[in-house]
Amino acid sequence: MGGAFGRITAFLFQDVQSEKETKDLAVLIRIICCIFVLYFLVIGITVASIGHYLTGLLLVGGIGLTVGAFILTYENRTVLGMVLLNILLLFFPTMLTLLLGFSQGFYLPVFLNILLIYFNKTNRMVLKRVYSISLMIYLMCLAEISNAVNLTVVPSATLSMWFQTFNMLMFSCAILASAWSYCQKFNQAEEKLRRINENLERMANLDTLTKLSNRRHMNEHLAGLVFDYNRSNKAFTMAIGDIDFFKKVNDTYGHDTGDYVLSTVADIFRKYMKDKGHVARWGGEEFLFSFENMDLEKAYRYLDELRHLIESTPMDFKEYHFNITMTYGIEEFNPRLGIEATINRADAKLYKGKQGGRNRVVK
Ligand code: GH3
Ligand code: MG
Ligand code: MG
Repeated sequence: MGGAFGRITAFLFQDVQSEKETKDLAVLIRIICCIFVLYFLVIGITVASIGHYLTGLLLVGGIGLTVGAFILTYENRTVLGMVLLNILLLFFPTMLTLLLGFSQGFYLPVFLNILLIYFNKTNRMVLKRVYSISLMIYLMCLAEISNAVNLTVVPSATLSMWFQTFNMLMFSCAILASAWSYCQKFNQAEEKLRRINENLERMANLDTLTKLSNRRHMNEHLAGLVFDYNRSNKAFTMAIGDIDFFKKVNDTYGHDTGDYVLSTVADIFRKYMKDKGHVARWGGEEFLFSFENMDLEKAYRYLDELRHLIESTPMDFKEYHFNITMTYGIEEFNPRLGIEATINRADAKLYKGKQGGRNRVVK
């Protein structure tokens, strides 16, 4: 049962192939067509049963044209399908209203034409407005004319009640179905927008080469750490690390090998820092670390372990096999100094480490 419903829904919601057409319009036409095949059949039989054989026959003929409009939406001819459906939803309501009176509610499907025209992709809003206003005027005229003409009186109150109820029921179904399909479209668009936003946010926060946080995102993260520090005295330690003789790596093995080194060390950092804090690409071959809930001594032990890990990781790229080292400066966050000065102090220690021979952590 669920499978059959799923297949029917998938068939009705099948996308259009042409770029110039919208799926929403095609789906709306299909749904309205399905409803009106049943509508024309039931009304055709009822009208024939009270002696209007020709009208009954015309209504059954209308089924063929409705199916035609339905098929057109799968043949890259959605707009033609819409025009055909518009004609059907103007001709039959007019004919039935003139024949059986305005009060039976046969005019209701005319409103669906307005829905159809607004689902059409064209931006010619003036045309849409003029068309809808014309339809309103048309309906008012139809009410007057049908009251004046009053060709046939519906033979019984029960039948009149049936016409009114059935017209209202089918019209409500068509409106509900189009509201549902519109809702689906809206939800899908919203979901798509949410995904795009998420992507944009990720892209704005990440460094493209290493996929680590960029400087901007790290600054935001640090502001959060300072906020936590001020609120609950949560200590944290910052460190800055710089690859030793990186220029030589580029010069000896090429820039792409340099890029490989950057993303390899970034992967190691990301994994290692996962439960300890955060890491970002701070500049070209410089990385900034925050060891969270840690004082200087504890962070120093971890960072020295990380230094060993980097030193002992073989870099294998193309035909090149080599090792790299890094130098680090480390400083515990001091609220009197603030973030910037704390980083500057770590940087000064890094410089000291470079001068002292590299491949070390200076605390
Ligand atoms: P030191 O040990 O004193 O840090 O020496 P170094 O050679 O590492 O320092 P230097 O500042 O002279 O060189 C850094 C180099 O990093 C220069 C620059 O071309 C390179 N670099 C910066 N960003 C990238 C990048 O995204 N990819 C690659 N391949 N190289 C980069
Ligand atoms: Mg540098
Ligand atoms: Mg360097």
